[in-house]
Amino acid sequence: MAKKYRIIFDRDTCIGALACNAVAPEVWTLADDGKVDLKGGTKRADGKWELIVEEKDLAINKEAAESCPVYAIVVEEIVEEQKE
Ligand code: SF4
Repeated sequence: MAKKYRIIFDRDTCIGALACNAVAPEVWTLADDGKVDLKGGTKRADGKWELIVEEKDLAINKEAAESCPVYAIVVEEIVEEQKE
């Protein structure tokens, strides 16, 4: 099965440096308040935003995460639990 990844965006931490937007403008879109939005993401109960992506979108989002000066973006692999 294809691997999937979870992008977690802490919008409260974002300072609008726009490095992520420079790397992946199709995912990290400019918002009216000078920060960015995670396109297609959903807001979680803890206030962070989340988007599930496939392996083909991993590299660009990892690059965006690494470009962020305040570490507002985290990319993690979703590990499927094995059913016995
Ligand atoms: S690089 Fe980080 S601080 Fe800058 S806009 Fe993107 S998430 Fe926000």
